[in-house]
Amino acid sequence: KNLLANRVKTLSPSATLAITAKAKELKSQGIDVIGLGAGEPDFNTPQNILDAAADSMNKGLTKYTPAGGLPVLKQAIIDKLIRDNNLEYKPNEIIVGIGAKHVLYTLFQVLLNEGDEVIIPIPYWVSYPEQVKLAGGVPVYIEGSSEQNFKITAEQLRNAVTDKTKAVIINSPSNPSGMVYTREELAEIAEVAVEKDLVIVSDEIYEKLLYNGLEHFSIAQLSEEVKKRTIVVNGVAKSHSMTGWRIGYAAGDAEIINAMTDLASHSTSNPTTTSQYATVEAYNGPQDSVEEMRKAFESRLETIYPKLSAIPGFKVLKPQGAFYLLPDVAEAAQKTGFTSVDDFASALLTEANVAVVPGSGFGVPSTIRLSYATSLDLLEEAVKRMDNFVKTKW
Ligand code: PLP
Repeated sequence: KNLLANRVKTLSPSATLAITAKAKELKSQGIDVIGLGAGEPDFNTPQNILDAAADSMNKGLTKYTPAGGLPVLKQAIIDKLIRDNNLEYKPNEIIVGIGAKHVLYTLFQVLLNEGDEVIIPIPYWVSYPEQVKLAGGVPVYIEGSSEQNFKITAEQLRNAVTDKTKAVIINSPSNPSGMVYTREELAEIAEVAVEKDLVIVSDEIYEKLLYNGLEHFSIAQLSEEVKKRTIVVNGVAKSHSMTGWRIGYAAGDAEIINAMTDLASHSTSNPTTTSQYATVEAYNGPQDSVEEMRKAFESRLETIYPKLSAIPGFKVLKPQGAFYLLPDVAEAAQKTGFTSVDDFASALLTEANVAVVPGSGFGVPSTIRLSYATSLDLLEEAVKRMDNFVKTKW
């Protein structure tokens, strides 16, 4: 008999977590590795949030909460959605879960029947395809090539829809490309979603990390008709530097949210109570630290982008949001004697001691992903090492 179920046989571990683990291993051997793999802000969680968490614990608020989240937190999220996005929801249209990642997992579990297709734009966040497959769904990829600024068009979406298509995922600002869809582009995509009766899964976890004066626009803001078919997914991990607290949420159709809540009641129960109280403060308290962190990311980007672009054989589109750069390094890899960018990325780690994530994990195998969620000093040193590595081998 097989020990493991079929559903996990093709499951691949997260490429981003794998590189972080390898970098840590080298570090533990005393090797001075600079890790640009991680997808988390390098700042501490703001003090007011820590204090609110401690307060709640000291008050004895450490018991189970409703599976879908504390009413006071749902209200804080409702207020946030009105304040920031001009979107109105009722408490039964909100679920709080264990990070946006698990919220998405639960969403696909309640949405998909065996064989239902979900359209996933390339480049994609590593977990979308696996989560869709775990729910019995079939990922259907459409490519937002670098010529299209890593974004898909409405026309591509229309051509990919079949009678089995249930949903399309939009992640703007995007991990890994850092690209942001304009309101017009979203309107065209939404038009196809309405015409073809698709659910729009809008992953807005990088909402607060936008540069060059750009403002976030949620696809759900387009119209009541679009909002009805959109599930907005967001959380505090990236905006408030709260990755380890594991709080995310979804807002949308009450029937879907209710099913997700029922599933959570049998799988996770509530997200950690202390983390929920911390998140109430994250949304209801002062937002200065969110903007301070955003500014720090933007100034790193401005410093590092020209230097990275100047490395021979690196083609880099300037990101508009999130904290990743996705250079196309196919030429650099080829000119330095590697048969694939994956091999080039491995050599960057073992020879130049810079950890990056190979783009193959995101569906773009000619690229590598670098996170600039680390200090400017380290970023500059990392770019210098990569530059030397390429120039020496060229
Ligand atoms: N969606 C995208 C695009 C992400 O990059 C991440 C985290 O890396 C998540 C969702 C998950 O965030 P959380 O930490 O809230 O689970």
